[in-house]
Parts: sequence; structure tokens; C-alpha cells
Amino acid sequence: MLKQTHYPMVIGDELIETGSQDVLDPAKGEVFATVAMSTVEDVNRAVAAAKKAQVDWANLSYGERSVALLKFADAVEQQADQLAKLESLQTGKPMKLASNSDIPFAVDNLRYFASALRRQEGAAAGSYVGGYTSMLRREPLGVVAGICPWNYPLMMAVWKLGPALAAGNAIVIKPAPNTPITTIELAKIALDSGLPSGLINVVTGGAAVGEALCSHPDVRMVSFTGSTATGKRIMDLASQTVKRVTLELGGKAPFVVFADADIEAAAQGAVVAGYMNTGQDCTAATRIYVQSPVYDAFLSRFKELSQQIRVGDPSDLSTDVGPLVSEAQRFKVHGYVEEARQQGIEVVLGGEMPSGPGFFYPPTILANAPQESNCVQEEIFGPVLVVNRFETEDEAIALANGVSYGLAGSVWTSNVQRAMRLSADLQCGTVWVNDHLPIASEMPHGGFKQSGIGKDMSHYAIEEYTVVKHVMLEMTGAQRKPWHFTVFGDAD
Ligand code: NAD
Repeated sequence: MLKQTHYPMVIGDELIETGSQDVLDPAKGEVFATVAMSTVEDVNRAVAAAKKAQVDWANLSYGERSVALLKFADAVEQQADQLAKLESLQTGKPMKLASNSDIPFAVDNLRYFASALRRQEGAAAGSYVGGYTSMLRREPLGVVAGICPWNYPLMMAVWKLGPALAAGNAIVIKPAPNTPITTIELAKIALDSGLPSGLINVVTGGAAVGEALCSHPDVRMVSFTGSTATGKRIMDLASQTVKRVTLELGGKAPFVVFADADIEAAAQGAVVAGYMNTGQDCTAATRIYVQSPVYDAFLSRFKELSQQIRVGDPSDLSTDVGPLVSEAQRFKVHGYVEEARQQGIEVVLGGEMPSGPGFFYPPTILANAPQESNCVQEEIFGPVLVVNRFETEDEAIALANGVSYGLAGSVWTSNVQRAMRLSADLQCGTVWVNDHLPIASEMPHGGFKQSGIGKDMSHYAIEEYTVVKHVMLEMTGAQRKPWHFTVFGDAD
């Protein structure tokens, strides 16, 4: 048997190998590596290393910080092939997605933050009180904890460490327990590229390690991406030491198709938006609402295209959809389909648990599900889409907004005024018109309602990782008539 690679946690410049947890290849259901397991003591040491590194990092000029991050981005790009292979192996996502999208986008993100940090400025300098000048400083928070999910492990790590480091913070990242490898590799690349030790630390493990980070008094912010249930727990924990939180949580994105839309484009768009990353995407199109006159035509074409999806070995470059990340996730996804079937909801395609190795699940379409059913209301996080019908624009808006989530949504129409109305009325952080999924480093990503608080990407993300300080200078000198004489001593 081949010796499996054992991946370490990264604390300061130390690669620590203690403890062991299996990492599975979801396409085979077999262990392919092991990873160290952090203890609470390791968390404490990682936070201490970050705290030490942060002071010098924050004192660098913007230009110096930018150069260091650009060098790091170049080093990540040089390792892109290897990172894509590891990302595909640990998540089961197709190589095509990892190498054409996830890794290049993460590099672009790093480069964006390396540049955007130089544009940080205090917004005001003015005399708001007579005899004084006020100005603002934007300062880093200190040590940030980044807690990441398993669906885009490397990209989510970059979405956190990019703005955190750009703003002058240091970070301790905890990847999801089943997908830690590319985050560990990223921290190693950071060290090799010359970023100071302690700036990026990676602790490994599950909820206990995450909770230790969220409770640590020296951690000033928790940047979390994951499920809404865990987000609520993290908010609770962070409140004990009044930490800042950003929460990028679950989604249940509506995909609204009007009768005046290009139906072929919409059907093709739904295939990509619904099944990409095996549907394990927080912005995936999961609720498709189609206006009655084109409902049958849309459903029939969407079904036809869904049948053409190539499900299989993630390392095969022709594969569109790989396995789900774990057996637990597959049972969860199938549970929603079984429940829908028992409720009499129509299963138009798929919905059968495959036999054979790996955690595969077929593209599945449910139709005409009641709005209150779990398959419409809850995040399934698999290749399962619901296609429902609507009559009027008002009804479409009510249905699209009628869930607790609000991360993203799309409207498909050829009517510009309608597109503008829906863009305003959909309660979510991103609205696409005649597309669904594309994102840009320059633009913010984040949820409304129970999809979260705060923004990833864009200059708004840098703001999340800074605190605004008011500096007020008395400027009248000898003739000073400072403000306190008006409330203390002899009044005029
Ligand atoms: P999860 O909430 O189970 O776990 C996320 C991370 O939190 C993991 O690292 C996990 O170990 C850690 N964790 C679990 N319990 C914890 C606790 N009590 N304290 C601290 N940390 C804890 O989520 P998941 O299943 O890994 O990821 C899927 C979820 O992530 C989906 O809901 C998806 O929508 C969401 N997601 C959201 C976005 C976004 O941008 N909004 C992006 C990607 C994924």
C-alpha cells in the first residue's frame, strides 16, 4: 500500500504533525491522506503567533504590504496545477472547475486585495467643532479567526486572508475537517514566498477547535463561512468577548424566468447554476420559478439538458459533475428527495441513490412543490432543483422572497423595466439579470436576512476587517477656547 501523505497544521513557521484524522477522496470513498489535529493549546499558540506577527505587518507601508501580497499571489499561481489537483481530490469537484475557476479566481482575488489596500483612506478631515480638526484613521483589528466550509476550501480561505492581511491583520484559519489540505498548502506557500511567519496560521479540526478560536480573548473578529445554524452559534460565542463577526451563511437562491425571457438561455443557465460544484454552492439556483405560459417548454428543455450532464470521475477533464463531498451529505440530500416523494411532489428526473463506490448523486429535478415544503424552504446543498410555476410579477417576487435566506437570485427577462424592478425587489445580496453565478473580485458578496452579515470581496470586505478611529486635534493654540470651558468652569 502507498504511504499516505500526512499534512501538518501551520503555527508561525512550524509545521506540526501531532494527531491524525483521515481525509477521504469522495470519488472513491477511500482515505487518501491524513491531517494533524489541533488541540486548544495549539489554538492558543496560533493566536499568540498571529498576535506577535501582526504588529510589524501593520507597521509596514501600504506599498510594502502590497508588494508582499503580490509576491504571495505569484507563488500561489506557480503552484496552481498542484493546488487544483489537491482541491479536486479532497472535495470531489471536477478538475475542470478547480483548475479553470477556483484557483485562478483565488489568485485574482489576492491580487485585487494587494492593490485595493493602497486605496484605503480616512473619509473625513474637517472642523466639525469650532477650533478643532477631526480626521479618521482606518486601523486593523489585530488577530482575525477565519472559519471555512468544505465546498470551496482554498477560495474561501483566500476570501478571508486576502482582505484581513490587506487591512493589516494577522489570521488563524480553521478549514473544514474533511477538506484542510489546500489551506495548509496555501500557508506553506505564504511562508515560502516570504510573508512573515505567524501572519497566516492554520489549525485543524472541527467544532471544538472552531469554538476555541471564537472564545479566545485575543481574537478580535471571527470571519465565518458555513451553515446558518453554525453561524448562530458563532454569533453567540463571539458575543461573550464582543468580537466582530462576518457571517457568510446558507442560501436558497431563486431563479425567476418570465415568459418574455430567452428560454434556451435560461435553461442552459439553470443547468450551470444548479449543478455546478454538484449543487454545493451557497448561491446555486435551487428554486426555479417559471411563468405559466413557458413552464412546460422550460421544464422539458431543462430536463433534456440535465440528462446530458456528464457525472463521473473528477479527474477526467470532460466531467461536469463529481460526487458530493461526503456520505453524510449524500444521505442529507437524498433525505430531502425521499421526503418530497412521500409528499407527492413530482420527481421529474433522478432521485435514486446510486450503487457503487464514491458519494455520487444524480442531477435531480422536483416539480410543482408547495412553497412551504422543506425542499423549497431549506438548503439541500446537492444537485437537486425545484421547478415551480407562477402567474404574475407580484407573485414571483413574493415566492422568491418567501424563504429565510437572502444570499443571491436571478431574473430572466427581455424587459428592462422589469429587470430593474426585480433587481430592487429581490431581498438578496446579489441579483443577476439573464445569468446566475458569475462573481468579480471588485464586487461585494454577502447575504441579506439569515444568509449572513457583512461582505466578502471588494473594498467593502477590507472595511469589514478594519475599525474606524476618530482623531480630534485642538488647533487654536494660545487663543484656545476649548469646548470644555462651555460645560465646566465659568460660563460666558
Ligand atoms: P458548517 O457550518 O457545518 O461548517 C463550517 C465550518 O464551521 C467548518 O470549518 C466547521 O468545522 C466549523 N464549525 C462547525 N461547528 C462549529 C462551532 N460550533 N464553532 C465554530 N466552528 C464550527 O458548514 P459546511 O457544511 O462546512 O458548509 C456548507 C455551508 O456553507 C452551506 O450552508 C453553504 O451555504 C455555506 N456557504 C456559504 C457561503 C457564502 O458565501 N454565503 C459560501 C460557501 C458556503
